[in-house]
Amino acid sequence: LSERLSGVFDRLTKQGALSEEDVKTALREVRVALLEADVSLPVARDFVKAVQDKATGQAVTKSITPGQQVVKIVHDTLIDVLRGEGEPGSLKIDNAPAPILMVGLQGSGKTTTTAKLAKRLKDRDGKRVLMASLDVNRPAAMEQLAILGVQIGVDTLPIVKGENPVQIAKRAKTQAAMGGYDVYMLDTAGRLSIDEELMQQVEAVRDVSNPRETLLVVDGLTGQDAVQTAENFNDRIGISGVVLTRMDGDGRGGAALSMRAVTGKPIKFVGLGEKMDALETFEPERIAGRILGMGDIVALVEKAQETIEAEQAEKMMRRMAKGQFNMNDLKMQLEQMLKMGGMQGMMGMMPGMGKMAKQVEEAGFDDKVLKRQIALIQSMTKKERANPALLQASRKKRIAKGAGLEVSELNKLMKMQRQMSDMMKKMGKGGMLKQAMKGMM
Ligand code: GDP
Ligand code: MG
Repeated sequence: LSERLSGVFDRLTKQGALSEEDVKTALREVRVALLEADVSLPVARDFVKAVQDKATGQAVTKSITPGQQVVKIVHDTLIDVLRGEGEPGSLKIDNAPAPILMVGLQGSGKTTTTAKLAKRLKDRDGKRVLMASLDVNRPAAMEQLAILGVQIGVDTLPIVKGENPVQIAKRAKTQAAMGGYDVYMLDTAGRLSIDEELMQQVEAVRDVSNPRETLLVVDGLTGQDAVQTAENFNDRIGISGVVLTRMDGDGRGGAALSMRAVTGKPIKFVGLGEKMDALETFEPERIAGRILGMGDIVALVEKAQETIEAEQAEKMMRRMAKGQFNMNDLKMQLEQMLKMGGMQGMMGMMPGMGKMAKQVEEAGFDDKVLKRQIALIQSMTKKERANPALLQASRKKRIAKGAGLEVSELNKLMKMQRQMSDMMKKMGKGGMLKQAMKGMM
């Protein structure tokens, strides 16, 4: 996105000051990017409007380049909107025992989040927590929470079959008071979609328990649907905050912006996996970067431009955007990495490659390894470089020998090329890389 914007604005610089029309043109791109990140349409529209007002006013100052200025405004505005008021990750849990009500659709991650949060309160804040499952609809739901409780060392309310959610909530309150707990958490049942019965049930529970916090648990991958859910829960139940789950997934995190816009309530935590410690305080900066861009391609491109000729880079980017990545491309990358201070630096900047960068780091890559790998590619024929599928046993032996290295090292190199190639194909398919590069090419 940043590239697309910079492209548009750098062309504008030459024409002088920015008009409202110019800003509009650029912000159309922003809107597309937001929609691609699963931000709901009205939210994206409002956001763009807000940025437009700010940008048009500021553009005349012409301090930095207009492109940078607008990118920064978009970014800053996004962070502002995402942050809201209050301390992220904080909960009102004074006046023991403080009830926390967990609501949301079925499968959104309520039960998991209940346990994660209980563990966090216990471990970080030294709180005594009692968890109670109010899910009388789904078989084994109560047992699920009880098992998690044992796992994390947090008490759960004993299961009494035949009670309704309101009765369970009342019993939890009594037990929490008598047992000297600081917090008690009510994990409610969810439906696959909002319905009247669900809402009435949650309302009744809210009325008997009077929660200090009512947290809406939303699957961060659901995108547009999440908006309706949030709106309904907020209107009927009155939520105090949001927890976004499955943010470890591939989603772009647009739900975060939608949630903020629709409910006005803070996003307090994000779920980053199924494990009990995979819950983190919400960080607006991180999500903003994710919504707007794909890794830090801007920085990558800038760095690359310093060290390689633009022509070469362009050719490689084009091939990458088409999902092509053979040994020649790998060689070029390896050579650049040598120049740019190693592999981790470069990969860390590319989308989806953080994990690979870590593997690379663990594998102990350094300049020596890079040089050996380049030597291996150099001892391949032209045909082999263009089509690594040709590399069968006898050829491999010859190549390794030519470079004075082991076949196992060649195998590692080939695996790397295959992984990169797969990744490029995936990115090429989604058109992500292509779009990101549009502005610069
Ligand atoms: P509930 O129906 O709302 O109570 O949902 P559950 O807590 O039972 O979660 C449904 C599924 O989502 C389970 O398999 C969880 O392990 C999984 N889950 C919950 N939170 C996360 C998360 O942050 N990341 C991932 N990857 N999975 C999650
Ligand atoms: Mg559940």
